[in-house]
This record gives sequence, structure tokens and C-alpha cells, in this order.
Amino acid sequence: MGTADGAVLGTTKIVDHGADSARWNLVVMAEGFTAAEQDAFHVAAESFVTKLFTTEPFRRMWCAINVHRVDVRSDESGADEPATCADGGTGAGTTRRTYFDASFCRDGTNRLLYGSEALAVATAAAAVPAVHARVVIVNSTRYGGAGGSAAWFSLAPEAAEIGVHELGHSAFQLADEYGDSIATWSAGEPSEPNVTTVTDRATTKWASRIAAATPLPTQENPGCAAMTTAASPVPAGTVGLFAGGSRAFCGIYHPQHICRMQVLGNEFCAVCKEAISARLRPFLPAFSGPVVGTQFHGTLTARQTARWFTYDWPACWHVLWTVVPTTPVTPTPGVTWKVGVERASRERTTYWLTVTNLTDASLELDGRYEIVART
Ligand SMILES: [Zn+2]
Repeated sequence: MGTADGAVLGTTKIVDHGADSARWNLVVMAEGFTAAEQDAFHVAAESFVTKLFTTEPFRRMWCAINVHRVDVRSDESGADEPATCADGGTGAGTTRRTYFDASFCRDGTNRLLYGSEALAVATAAAAVPAVHARVVIVNSTRYGGAGGSAAWFSLAPEAAEIGVHELGHSAFQLADEYGDSIATWSAGEPSEPNVTTVTDRATTKWASRIAAATPLPTQENPGCAAMTTAASPVPAGTVGLFAGGSRAFCGIYHPQHICRMQVLGNEFCAVCKEAISARLRPFLPAFSGPVVGTQFHGTLTARQTARWFTYDWPACWHVLWTVVPTTPVTPTPGVTWKVGVERASRERTTYWLTVTNLTDASLELDGRYEIVART
């Protein structure tokens, strides 16, 4: 099991927002895909990119991120599935010769799915030396995943959602915001940004986000044996202290009634969003000194309005447009213009410039751009 059962085929930068040295680099790797199944991996990788782009705060921070796809061939398809698991779960009882040797039923939990963390780290670093985070997509339709040094997840229908949650663990050090196995937390204040043991209004971890009128703690888990099913005592989106986190029911709190780190399929809470954004913010394109040029020349007859478009501009660039008459016009302004912007795709914009000749004579003009920040 392991590297003898496959090979790294190659690396493709599937989201390119600039030099790896200047961006936050996510590496997406294949596990349990045979040589003939690499196309299916490409589809799964693209699906995950789309999922990430439609998830806040990743959409807002998109221009900070590069994504690299590493095609990895396994000799056999899928992942190991022990026939019985300590938690009572069952599997196909099959082993597969795969590159990262991923298996279900890790640590006695049937849905825990991962392979060699060390090999995932080494493979990502060899492919992309500037790697910041790793995702491994496992070629199985059974529900499973885990978050360690890499985020591992399967092709189950909720797969991309598992991936985003696990990335929360592996790349942004977010804790689970639920209890499931520990009655009362006793390990002291945790390091993760989205769980706390401190119930003092002035000193709790996200104190600045808690309104004075919000009761603290905001909601407890009576009996410390299950997450409460009671409705939130405060309006949706309110930040407070809700019991449950890091797998304990009591003695530890998370920021909002519901968050993706508690239940899949929900938004990240405000505290988790800010933790992710803070990590990504230094990688956003910064002022790079203007690059200027003339995109088009045109002619307008007296009082005419016409529209020009220019396409395939990287959406992450900051571009300003100016239209300047090249025919002398005095003593009044010669033209006015409006800029329309079309988001043609996830990565590209088209600019539409509508220009009006304000004079009673024909005039010529230049359409000029100024790129203030780019990748
Ligand atoms: Zn959260």
C-alpha cells in the first residue's frame, strides 16, 4: 500500500491569480483514481473549486487564492473499506491498492476517511513548494472525510461540503462547534478562534462581536449529553456564547446558533468567516504601481453616443477607465462616458464603455486604461 501502488502524473494550476509566492496556494490531489479515471478527478476538483467560490468568505477573498490540481494515479479504484468498524458500522470488506492508502473506519469511526497524512504533505510540497493547504479527493461515493494536515473527502453527494468543513480544520485551525462524545470540557481555554471557555462578557474570545443585550451564556445544553434541539433564544445571526464545541457538550462555547463547523450545509458564522479572511487577506493583490495604456481609438459624429467593449480582463485586476478626446474641443467638455462591467465568468470580466460626444462636431477619442493592482 502506498507510493508503490501509483504515481504522481502532473500538476496543473486551475485557478491562477498570480505568482505562487504572492498568493495562498491550495493543492487538490487525487486518491483512488486510476489512470483512466483522471477525467473524473478533474470534474471533482473543478466542482470543489466552484463550491469554494460560492462559499463566503472565500468568494470575497477569491483573488488571494491559487488552486493547483495534482493528478495522482492509483493502481486500483476507491479506498479500503473494513467489513466491520468499532462504532458498529459496516463496509464492503475490500482493500484497494491506492497511492495514499486511504481507508474508511479510521480510529474506529466508519465515516472517518483518510490516508497517509505524511505522504499527502510531501506530495503537495513536491508539486507546489509554496503550498498552504491540501485537499485530497477520494474516489468513493460513500460518505466520509477527515481534517488533519490535509482535508480528505469522498465523492458522496455532500462531498464538497465535507471538504469545505474539513478545510476549516486543516487550513484555518477552526474547531468543531458541536459536542458528540465529551460531557464537559476540562482542558482549559482552546487555541482555536471559534471556541472558548470564557463566559465573561469583557474577556471572552469574540467579545467585540457580542451586543450588550445578548445574554451570556446565550444557550446551554441541559444534561450535557446532547446538543440541544431548542430554538435559538436570539435572532438568527446573533453572536453570543452557545454551548458545545470541540466534541464537548458543556463548558465550552461557539459563537452563533448554527455554523458550518457545527452542521454541514450552513454558512460559516461571523467569527469563522473573520478567521478565514484574516488568514487570506495578506495574499490579496496589492497596489502594484499603475500600468497604463490605450485600449481603443474611436470616432463619434456630432452628439453621437456609441458603445465599445473589451473582454477577457482578469476579474482580480483593479482597472480604471478614462475616455479622452484627441480632437481639440473648447471651451466645453468633449465627451462623457459610463463604464459597464460584465462578470463573464468566475475569472474574467468584460468592460463596456458607453461614450457620448457632447459637441456639434465630429471628434476622435482614446479609450485608456489604468491597471492599479494586478496579479
Ligand atoms: Zn463558526
